[in-house]
Amino acid sequence: MAPDRGAAGRLNRLCPDRYCPLGVTEIDPGDLVRLGIRAVLLDVDNTLVGWQREDVPDAVVQWVASLKAAGLRLYLVSNTRFPRRLARLAARLDVPYVRKAAKPRRAGFLEALADLQVEPSEAVMVGDQILTDILGGNRVGMRTILVAPMAGREFVGTKLTRMAEAVVLVWLRRTGRL
Ligand SMILES: [Mg+2]
Repeated sequence: MAPDRGAAGRLNRLCPDRYCPLGVTEIDPGDLVRLGIRAVLLDVDNTLVGWQREDVPDAVVQWVASLKAAGLRLYLVSNTRFPRRLARLAARLDVPYVRKAAKPRRAGFLEALADLQVEPSEAVMVGDQILTDILGGNRVGMRTILVAPMAGREFVGTKLTRMAEAVVLVWLRRTGRL
């Protein structure tokens, strides 16, 4: 993680270490282990399931199992306003979760890392939103992986955020950061 050098440093905090246009199943557990990663923090909506949905696709269920089989520790870090649904998803995937993440604030990420007893440098945040998942993960010094959002209906506020993110993605590509 580069030190913050004013505006440029803050912009770099929007830059993921990797972008996966096909979603989380592109991420190979072995690659993470080889990078020294011990813990994977996961966004939920549009990363593991469609927005407000509870049906985790089979491919994602298998991917989660493959991470566990590789010895990686998992944690859900979601900004959802539906805590009961989050609890059910966490139970179904058998993965612990942060109750009030408030990404991109640091507290939720730090709570997950403390519970797992893992340093930020040994963890990666995986999510579909630059302004919450990637910014937050970078702020605590974790690696970050941006995934393309799962298709479907979503929160109107998220749609506005996506417009801002589209601008950021173009900038990251033009400046060779992605
Ligand atoms: Mg999301």
